[in-house]
Amino acid sequence: METVGVIGAGQMGAGIAQVAAQSGFRVLLSDRDVALAEKGKAGIAKRLGSAVEKGKVAAADAEAALARIETVDHYGAFGDAFIVIEAATEREEIKRSIFAEVGARMGPNAILATNTSSIPITRLAQAAPDAGRFMGVHFFNPVPVMKPIELIRGLATSDGTVARVEAFAKALGKEVVHANDAPGFIVNRVLMPMLNEAIFALGEGVANVRDIDAAVSLGLNHPMGPLTLADFIGLDTCLEITKVLFTGTGDPKFRPAPLLVKYVEAGWLGRKTKRGFYDYSGAEPVPTR
Ligand code: NAD
Repeated sequence: METVGVIGAGQMGAGIAQVAAQSGFRVLLSDRDVALAEKGKAGIAKRLGSAVEKGKVAAADAEAALARIETVDHYGAFGDAFIVIEAATEREEIKRSIFAEVGARMGPNAILATNTSSIPITRLAQAAPDAGRFMGVHFFNPVPVMKPIELIRGLATSDGTVARVEAFAKALGKEVVHANDAPGFIVNRVLMPMLNEAIFALGEGVANVRDIDAAVSLGLNHPMGPLTLADFIGLDTCLEITKVLFTGTGDPKFRPAPLLVKYVEAGWLGRKTKRGFYDYSGAEPVPTR
């Protein structure tokens, strides 16, 4: 059984660990300490439990998948892993220090991959043990449900690394797309300007919240409107990614909408603060403008 190392047991790391274990890999799951890794594993157990209840996963398969996930409190065992996926907090200094620590323990042919949403892969590669065996693997949330993985190669990533990671992603049952190391990669590059433009339209009085969402979701056949989606992602996250697009390209077309900046300054961050473009304090979301 091949071994996968996962660093960070939050929403994304736990999801990646779950999918890898369900695909037959042995998973070493770590976080800042073993209690956090255990918390991540407990969340996986809960999700697998409800999948069993709904008849989506056989009880024996769920049990076997969970048994393949081992929580660890240091990187000692990571020498066994053919790939290590870093899914820790989106802060460059955290990722750099993780790479230095785990890099010293990894096998000579092992690949180090990062799930970063926005930090340039080529720059992060400078902190990896070998830039040729380093690349971006951008999973989507929730990982067990969302089909694509964006594979992002840095300037120095080798063809062999890309081929091995692509084979791994396919073994997880994912649909691979390749992107170059450009701000926002593919999905955020396309999505964030749309959300930002919807917020410009709201700020300029083109229409109200309800009408912008209804028009876009019905007119473009999207499952939800852009303001609903922005609230779901978190307006602070939308602003951060938009700033990465703006500063990374230097192109004014990506400038953040003033109303988005104001909402973030007000602490109206969307669902997680119960207020964004909708008010979430009642049973149903209520448009605020
Ligand atoms: P999260 O906050 O749920 O989890 C981050 C985890 O990293 C936490 O459990 C935290 O304790 C851990 N961590 C922090 N410092 C660490 C360290 N030094 N060593 C080990 N673990 C450490 O965040 P998330 O949403 O899972 O995001 C993780 C990564 O995935 C980020 O790079 C993010 O940009 C990226 N990402 C997120 C999404 C999303 O929709 N949430 C989608 C794609 C990619």
